[in-house]
Amino acid sequence: MTLFEKIIARQIPADIVYEDEFTLAFRDIHPQAPVHVLVVPKKALTQLDRAEEGDADLLGRCLLSANRVAALEGLTDFRLVINNGAGAGQSVFHLHLHVLGGRQLAWPPG
Ligand code: AMP
Repeated sequence: MTLFEKIIARQIPADIVYEDEFTLAFRDIHPQAPVHVLVVPKKALTQLDRAEEGDADLLGRCLLSANRVAALEGLTDFRLVINNGAGAGQSVFHLHLHVLGGRQLAWPPG
């Protein structure tokens, strides 16, 4: 069971900011911006490139949840990040979207 599955199952505490039938959103424990929230699908999917046709609705739900989180946090400008694979910085192998905002975000990202 991954860390995020344990958070979804309420076995590990998290600062939850939004939840619906398909997704859970909680604050990142090491925030990289004033707002740094992780959106995870409740269905375990290790990483984005493992998604299949049948996951299309779930992926859309994740984006809509990110929008909801941004609105709840009062953000009109924000960035979504998905790290796919260890070489891209993925450390927890349960798909998650980073919702970042609350400061000027540099481009290109590092
Ligand atoms: P990634 O590196 O893209 O896999 O993102 C994993 C994120 O999970 C990192 O930004 C971590 O800071 C965050 N994280 C790790 N443990 C926890 C936790 N217990 N609660 C909330 N966020 C966590």
